[in-house]
Amino acid sequence: MLPAAEGIDYQLIRSRRRTISVEVDHGSNVVVRAPSWVSASEIQRFVSDRAEWIVGKVAEAHARRTMIPKRTADNQVYLRGSLLSWGWQDADILLPGSILPHQAEAWLATWQRRQAEQVFSSMIHEYLPLLGVPALRYNGLRLRKMRRRWGSCTRTGMITLNEHLVRTPDICIRGVVVHELCHLVHLNHGSGFRTLVADIFPDHRLSDTLLSGWNTIIDY
Ligand SMILES: [Zn+2]
Repeated sequence: MLPAAEGIDYQLIRSRRRTISVEVDHGSNVVVRAPSWVSASEIQRFVSDRAEWIVGKVAEAHARRTMIPKRTADNQVYLRGSLLSWGWQDADILLPGSILPHQAEAWLATWQRRQAEQVFSSMIHEYLPLLGVPALRYNGLRLRKMRRRWGSCTRTGMITLNEHLVRTPDICIRGVVVHELCHLVHLNHGSGFRTLVADIFPDHRLSDTLLSGWNTIIDY
């Protein structure tokens, strides 16, 4: 990424094309394509002239990604930001034939818990090595269904995560996991803590913003 005037970061691709073009992809990345002979300052000017349009497109791409899919039927559950259908056939999640309709809810609760355990522990073990020695303070993971918080970390290194967090997109799960892991190093939200979070997970602001939108689906 090149730091640009107007605060727009973009990826520059030089090619054999004859004109400069700019587009915003699904991930909100700005991609500029330019012929090899065009100077850097000319490209910069091209981007600056279109800054307003680019910012609008980036905002649109963010908005699309942050949209929470709407439930349209009773047999749907959220997993990692997607809406999955469940049933005994033709569904994303297939229930065993031995499960009767009145047992489906309990079966799905167990299923969600298992998904949460797998996803959370694999992310924890992905980020733990980045903490250095304080990673040794990690004392285990506990799952709870909570209404008001996504996670916590105790003085003794026990991390509790809200089981419902597994319904949200991976970027949100990562944000909470990294936040709680960084409490193994700093048991406060001071500047040392914030710097560590930003180092390990540069997307943390986006993650927090998205997660606030998912608060509304926690009661399902
Ligand atoms: Zn905290």
